[in-house]
Amino acid sequence: MRIDLHAHSNASDGTDTPAELVAAAVAAGLDVVALTDHDTVAGHAEAAAALTDTGLTLVPGAELSCHTDGISLHLLAYLFDPAEPAFAAERELVRTDRFRRGRAVVERCRELGAPITWEQVQRIAGDGSVGRPHIASALVEAGVVATVSDAFTAEWLANGGRADVRKHETDPVTAVRLVRAAGGVPVFAHPGASKRGDTVSDQVIAELAEAGLAALEVDHTDHDEPTRARLRGLAAELGLLTTGSSDYHGHRKTVRLGEWTTDPAVYEALVAQATGARPLTG
Ligand code: AMP
Ligand code: FE
Ligand code: FE
Ligand code: ZN
Repeated sequence: MRIDLHAHSNASDGTDTPAELVAAAVAAGLDVVALTDHDTVAGHAEAAAALTDTGLTLVPGAELSCHTDGISLHLLAYLFDPAEPAFAAERELVRTDRFRRGRAVVERCRELGAPITWEQVQRIAGDGSVGRPHIASALVEAGVVATVSDAFTAEWLANGGRADVRKHETDPVTAVRLVRAAGGVPVFAHPGASKRGDTVSDQVIAELAEAGLAALEVDHTDHDEPTRARLRGLAAELGLLTTGSSDYHGHRKTVRLGEWTTDPAVYEALVAQATGARPLTG
């Protein structure tokens, strides 16, 4: 069994449509893929419809933008009831604020001399939950930086960078409770991804565990070997499961679908905790 529990479509900042993502998962030899777009479930229906005759299992999910003590972090949520009103309202709040913030980031970039426009960013983002990677693509188009990744520096879009503007992000303890109350399973995404900015303390992770966190995403392209070892130890101490996933974003990032995977026994344990939805097959 090859299981990848973290992938983005163009419903947020990935570049594959949800149907293309399903095809890419099949081509990568995966048995299970989770669709985890930022703050949205908009890609679920198209991905589910593309499963027919593939043998692939789809885990519907999302990745929530959270914030505590001045630090941004991401919470993966699997198999929640998408219609549960409290969690749906919080996702909508974050998505809505992404538009205000996106415009402000573009304005900042223009003040700093980058010839990009909000119309251009909207064209790149399409119907997707708009974020910095779309603005990064606009900066690449304008010739300001060479790659998306080069836009995530202090000069431009990195956390705390010259053109970084905060968006509304949920308190992570609240987010863990919202996910559980919607029947879902919360997993801390790339908790040690220090190249993206400051990461939260072990104390915060312990509080999330107390609130109902199920697992830490340990095997991730942004974690070096010492970070993985430390996170495995912390998970054991706190009684948390550990996952591995690619965080695939299509051609906006270099990581391949299925480059990191989750142990089948861990996958079964996560599914067993879910009451909001079931994995989908074709
Ligand atoms: P946003 O959700 O708009 O705040 O943007 C966050 C997204 O930017 C993440 O989901 C990643 O896809 C991307 N990102 C963050 N840091 C980096 C980085 N250092 N290099 C490339 N992409 C990044
Ligand atoms: Fe992303
Ligand atoms: Fe993330
Ligand atoms: Zn992600």
